[in-house]
Amino acid sequence: MKVDYLIVGQGLAGTVLSYQLIKAKKKVVVINQTNRKSSSHVAAGLYNPITGRRMVKTWLADELFPYLEAFYSDMEQVLETRILMKSGIYRPFLSIEEQNEWMAKSADPMFSDYLEGIVQSSSQLGIKDPYGGLALKYSGYLDVSLMLDQYKRYLLENEAYIESAFDENMLVVNQEDVSYEGITANKIIFCAGVNDASGRFFNWLPFNPVKGDIISIKSEIPINKIINRGVYIIPQGNGTCRAGSTYSWDDLTDVATEKGKSEMMRKIEELIDSPYQVEDHQVGVRPATDDRRPFIGQHPALKPLYIFNGLGTKGVSLAPYFALEFLAYLEGRKELHEEVNINRYFSLY
Ligand SMILES: Cc1cc2nc3c(=O)[nH]c(=O)nc-3n(C[C@H](O)[C@H](O)[C@H](O)COP(=O)(O)OP(=O)(O)OC[C@H]3O[C@@H](n4cnc5c(N)ncnc54)[C@H](O)[C@@H]3O)c2cc1C
Repeated sequence: MKVDYLIVGQGLAGTVLSYQLIKAKKKVVVINQTNRKSSSHVAAGLYNPITGRRMVKTWLADELFPYLEAFYSDMEQVLETRILMKSGIYRPFLSIEEQNEWMAKSADPMFSDYLEGIVQSSSQLGIKDPYGGLALKYSGYLDVSLMLDQYKRYLLENEAYIESAFDENMLVVNQEDVSYEGITANKIIFCAGVNDASGRFFNWLPFNPVKGDIISIKSEIPINKIINRGVYIIPQGNGTCRAGSTYSWDDLTDVATEKGKSEMMRKIEELIDSPYQVEDHQVGVRPATDDRRPFIGQHPALKPLYIFNGLGTKGVSLAPYFALEFLAYLEGRKELHEEVNINRYFSLY
């Protein structure tokens, strides 16, 4: 078999990138070993333009956010499945001073596009928000796990998917192409998440993997909006909510621990005052990077080899825009954004 692109990994990165390539009429084969504990399968899928303790616009928000909803809506048509839940996000204020501060900031053009409004008093039984909160828009969540399953089905129907563990030792790298188990590809793109950090070809890149816990809860007083402060709580529409997440750089196993669960519960109890039960607990390791920017580009010495990785904590919002940018780069139409191009680390190779 001869293809334009061989993609290793079908998490969020491999999915979004291969979808952009197929839309551009490229012949693609994806090799993936399904792992229900992968970062993508456990992710909450939240996208949110204003984040962090200091509540600032996320990096490149004005480029990423207008495009992402259009991208996933297009995927929904092809997959015939709803995967994107557009929804506001509510962030309770901690003090009246904070409320006043946001009343002033809300007119600032830097934020105004992303603000639905300021809620000045407690908004819903069950939520701890005595001073009201900030209502954000252009946000919501992607059902990443459902998207991966449906997209795999789509790839299988198009004979573009191989369920298998990719063995790097079997890859033959030539000047102009690669071959692997009977497949010849002009280019191979590694999208194997944290596995690329210990792989043969891209282990010199400064990955900084971070484990996270996510739990499913059933609250006695139903929570009917996404709340985000310290942790996020996302109603799933069936009475349960998913709540996440923690950040651990020490324990990078895929084992769910009591410590992770109790940290999540402590944070949830700062946000809601309704009794609840924990129904499920999952963990995953995010492919994050030292400088918190993705790793995209061509291998410094082995020219047919590329990587699309390092999506860290924000894969849902970063992947569509950067897959499109990467496509333009692969077709020789555009240079890569210098903050994501792996050539910033060529000195480490
Ligand atoms: C608890 C938690 C919550 C999160 N919440 C959010 C959120 O709300 N919003 C957000 O934007 N992001 C969130 N993330 C981050 C998000 O999951 C990542 O940014 C993104 O999913 C990374 O995708 P990936 O495809 O690069 O990696 P992965 O998901 O790790 O996918 C890699 C794929 O490659 C496969 N693979 C690896 N090695 C091989 C091999 N040798 N052969 C074949 N296949 C291989 C793996 O099995 C997997 O299928 C969260 C992550 C965690 C852990």
